[in-house]
Amino acid sequence: MKPAAFGYQRPETLAQALTAYAAASDAKVLAGGQSLTPLLSMRLASVSELIDINGIRELSTITVTESGVRFGATVRHGELLADPDVAAVQPMIPAALQHVAHPTIRNRGTTVGSIVHADASGEMPTVFALLDGVLTVQSVRGTREISAPDLFLGALESSLAPDEIATEAFVPALPARHGIAFDEIARRHGDYALCGVGAVVALAPDGGVESVRAGYVSVSDVPTVVDLTEVFSDGHLSETSLQAAGELALSRLEPGADVHATAHYRAQLVRVLTSRVVRAAHDDAVERSNRAE
Ligand SMILES: Cc1cc2nc3c(=O)[nH]c(=O)nc-3n(C[C@H](O)[C@H](O)[C@H](O)COP(=O)(O)OP(=O)(O)OC[C@H]3O[C@@H](n4cnc5c(N)ncnc54)[C@H](O)[C@@H]3O)c2cc1C
Repeated sequence: MKPAAFGYQRPETLAQALTAYAAASDAKVLAGGQSLTPLLSMRLASVSELIDINGIRELSTITVTESGVRFGATVRHGELLADPDVAAVQPMIPAALQHVAHPTIRNRGTTVGSIVHADASGEMPTVFALLDGVLTVQSVRGTREISAPDLFLGALESSLAPDEIATEAFVPALPARHGIAFDEIARRHGDYALCGVGAVVALAPDGGVESVRAGYVSVSDVPTVVDLTEVFSDGHLSETSLQAAGELALSRLEPGADVHATAHYRAQLVRVLTSRVVRAAHDDAVERSNRAE
């Protein structure tokens, strides 16, 4: 199918884009187009105007500092994945990005676009929530920052106003004595996950478990983070505590059924992946702590 007719603008500055976006009713931002174009082509969505932000050079930068990673709205998944400085400061980003689609899609799709699209089956909205990311959005009315808990309102629904363009995202660095892991089960590598889990484990100075948080993909309507710390309250990681972590996660999620998996199977994936990923994040934290000494 072909999309319904729409207008198209390709501004060269952010100021031009914001003005055009504010002036047009029922317009949408075109970033990588990897989610929007199929929706338009299948006529599941229609727009009066597309505001293509790909010509705006100021949105294309990646800045890595000790405090974290800041990336602009036209930075592609593939660029972030390939950047060794990003991996050094926040290894969760490449750990999750390698599961996002295939190289051709990662070369066009933007990570900010994926976050704004707010698909709970996407890896990066969940990672953004798990890592307490902050999104910067601008309109002709000004600039504001949105933290992850305030961004994801519902299925494919973010809290951006109709005239706001997301200009960049910031993800904090991985602190000392922390470790990460991400894993998912998909029918084929690169497909959307049937279930995906990312975990961050923090160790206390004595090496015991201090905190455990996990983010879940494809098992709820919105990207969901569950604090699993309570089941590791004695500071130890054991088979029993890992199993309890899976049950705790499941109590906070609503795995659903679709043509690819039953709800029962997805629930089992939550259990198995929680245990596997938390263990791996703990091992990663131990290894990083040992290396730092
Ligand atoms: C075959 C296929 C497989 C895929 N597999 C996966 C997968 O496994 N995991 C995964 O996470 N994703 C997957 N994707 C989606 C891919 O990651 C997209 O790139 C991403 O979801 C959206 O990014 P985009 O830059 O392409 O956004 P677009 O498609 O351009 O935009 C998506 C939506 O966000 C809005 N938007 C985008 N950028 C901005 C902005 N800066 N400000 C305001 N609004 C904005 C648009 O208006 C639109 O509504 C897949 C896509 C395809 C086609």
